Amino acid sequence: MTQKEYIDEAEKALLHTYNRYQVVFDHGDGVKLYDMDGKEYLDFVAGISVFAFGYNNKEYNDALKAQIDKIIHTSNYYYNVPAVEAAKKLKEASGLDRVFFTNSGAEAIEGAIKTARKYAYLKDGKTDHEIIAMEHSFHGRTMGALSVTGNPKYREAFEPGIGNIKFARMNDLESVKALINEKTCAILFETVQGEGGIYPATDEFIKGVRKLCDEHDILMILDEIQCGMGRTGYMFAYQKYGVKPDVITTAKALGCGVPIGAFAMTEKVGQNSLKAGDHGTTYGGNPLACAAASKVFDMFKSTEILKNVKETGDYLYEKLEMLYNKKNDIVAHRGIGFIQGLEFDHPVADIINKALEKGLVLINAGTNIIRFVPPLIVSKADVDAMFDILTECL
Ligand SMILES: *Cc1c(COP(=O)(O)O)cnc(C)c1O
Repeated sequence: MTQKEYIDEAEKALLHTYNRYQVVFDHGDGVKLYDMDGKEYLDFVAGISVFAFGYNNKEYNDALKAQIDKIIHTSNYYYNVPAVEAAKKLKEASGLDRVFFTNSGAEAIEGAIKTARKYAYLKDGKTDHEIIAMEHSFHGRTMGALSVTGNPKYREAFEPGIGNIKFARMNDLESVKALINEKTCAILFETVQGEGGIYPATDEFIKGVRKLCDEHDILMILDEIQCGMGRTGYMFAYQKYGVKPDVITTAKALGCGVPIGAFAMTEKVGQNSLKAGDHGTTYGGNPLACAAASKVFDMFKSTEILKNVKETGDYLYEKLEMLYNKKNDIVAHRGIGFIQGLEFDHPVADIINKALEKGLVLINAGTNIIRFVPPLIVSKADVDAMFDILTECL
């Protein structure tokens, strides 16, 4: 079948929950993707912040193939080597102490919510605890994750959510303070808001929330699903601020393409929250997924990738800043490392479609923002090539 025929078949077989771009990607190599007709694309999306090391990475592929030939799945009722390895490496990278592996980001958020509720329940025996989340946040599509997502458009048709969620404004400490009471069990936000428009937390905000959480014994939960795993030039974005959260969520680049997420916490929270029987998953933490995560951590160590994110990320920042200064319809430029956004005063779908025609893959965040989340291995030459095509499309 041709590419066009596959697209038509897809529209008959798959539930229409996405307005998809008219392309079938067939294979990839490094920062390049190829569609079914063999057309080459420069990828500045990385499967939305997933494929950190680029496509068809031999070391990564070989690790997965070796694990497939050993064992793909057991149950969480037994131990397995890749899960132990991956957990140890995530602990080291994050500075946290206890790890639970999930299949997705949304499930990591679910686990973090349950952790916070159980932690508070063990303190006062009550079942009416509240979580403070942020407006314009995005935490996933399951009911719990949706309930803490600060975008009414995503939530409305599916109300009621899990309840007892309040929304403050990102980077507005007073708005958080105003919502805290004796029922508050957690304050949850993305260290860099992704889907909501690439808003990094300010130093003052993240440190202020840390202080509030310490004063009131509230858990600080940072969603690092998109901004973590090296994307800001730090292994986890909170490390840039020198702040330690009580609980984090991670996914996306954790498996670099194999579905895996995790929530992790301090020893104190681990000892005082979820216990045997409180939480579980069939696939979560299985040997194949954990072999991927384990190899990903190895590759962060054995390569200079964080250095590349910092240096080439700064270069990307300069280039995008140039565009921002030159074009009147670009109203803002935000972000750090390889999570940056250009905000326009109009929808960006046309620009993205034009870029795709010219062999550049870009993605939006909301309707008016182009989000730049390339594989972490992109070079300055790749940034230049992206910049030239994007400039043509504007
Ligand atoms: C993608 C994302 C999620 C949801 O992850 P899924 O794997 O799609 O469930 C949650 N939080 C943030 C910040 C994300 O970017």
